Amino acid sequence: TMQTDNHVSSSQRDECSTIHGVSRTIVGVLGGGQLGRMLCQAANIMSVKVMILDPLENCPASPLSYQHFVGRFDDGDAVREFAKRCGVLTIEIEHVDAVTLEKLEQQGVDIQPKPSTIRIIQDKYIQKVHFSQHGIPLPDFIKIDNLEGAEKAGELFGYPLMVKSRRHAYDGRGNAVADCKEKLTSAIGALGGYECGLYVEKWTSFAKELSVIVARGRDGSVLCYPVVETIHKENICHIVEAPADVPETIKKLSIDVATRAVGSLAGAGVFAVELFLTHNGQVLLNEVAPRPHNSGHHTIESCYTSQYEQHLRAILGLPLGNTSMKVSAAIMYNILGEDEGEQGFHLAHQIMRRALSIPGASVHWYDKPEIRKLRKMGHVTIVGPSKSYVKNNLRSMLDGETTESH
Ligand code: ATP
Ligand code: MG
Ligand code: MG
Repeated sequence: TMQTDNHVSSSQRDECSTIHGVSRTIVGVLGGGQLGRMLCQAANIMSVKVMILDPLENCPASPLSYQHFVGRFDDGDAVREFAKRCGVLTIEIEHVDAVTLEKLEQQGVDIQPKPSTIRIIQDKYIQKVHFSQHGIPLPDFIKIDNLEGAEKAGELFGYPLMVKSRRHAYDGRGNAVADCKEKLTSAIGALGGYECGLYVEKWTSFAKELSVIVARGRDGSVLCYPVVETIHKENICHIVEAPADVPETIKKLSIDVATRAVGSLAGAGVFAVELFLTHNGQVLLNEVAPRPHNSGHHTIESCYTSQYEQHLRAILGLPLGNTSMKVSAAIMYNILGEDEGEQGFHLAHQIMRRALSIPGASVHWYDKPEIRKLRKMGHVTIVGPSKSYVKNNLRSMLDGETTESH
């Protein structure tokens, strides 16, 4: 395991160890993507030291971290070595070696949220079984092991049918829709076949998708962020509107489902609960992320305490901060790669440049070394005094895009 030290030599660090911010505990984060980067940004304000474990030398979090250990977060040996250097371990991605984390926890390593939580979440089928056993409403689902099982599920749930990978899913990679019985084989093939571990879900023709970020401190205290609406593009979170434009009863119901879902999981931190609002006013759980989440980016500019600072407060045993919005409305727009290479960067930079002259807009660029189609490259959050204000400003940001690129 190689190591990049961004700030001080180890001897200097020992001398400095009595000078610290709000906590002297060194936070270790498995993963160094944009979520890790924004965790580091929040940590820097409070002088909390964050170390990251990520295989990419130039991953987004690397330049902002206190120390970057170059290694794989799904490799038990790397995780074990990394853990020795940290006071508390946490994650910014759930596809980590949960078995090693469970062993480390037994040996006394402090891991938040609990490895048992990460293990349940990282297998979406096990996650669904867990939540249904805890009485959380969710779309019908069933495990499939062969074509016969898939066809049986199709008869049971109807079409279109959502086929999902159990593991390693993110940004919709791991989802495939079969429109009819004849399309089952190709959907299953697109996900790598049955050996990869698949399950199917009943199609939910939702009215809206909602999300609730729930924070839980080490003392068990729980706070929820306002309910937001998430709008996806090809299964990828694209736009987030805060607060969600839904009746108060739906907000209450969403918070209730989210709180109960998180209540069934162990450990401190922030959790994102993705929800479907159906046309008849039901709120169903889609999935939970046991970490900061795309649907909470807006909290950096729009809430008293961002989800990133909140996650650090939670795992460090500090008091939780205020989750209320300090502005009336916020809208978050993900800058997704439209193209590979130079042209892709050019298009993304165009949006960023336009955002710089939009009132109330903050530009976040993740500094990813490579651009790919539909990859999250950055985001823009626009805050303002009303929903129409932020929506109109987003429209002018995007309209500029159309006139310039055509
Ligand atoms: P994430 O990046 O949030 O981790 P993921 O790869 O785990 O995404 P899901 O959250 O399972 O994927 O699904 C992505 C999107 O696909 C959902 O937000 C929703 O728009 C759509 N979707 C998922 N499941 C269903 C379903 N059962 N019926 C209809 N649409 C669905
Ligand atoms: Mg997911
Ligand atoms: Mg999701």
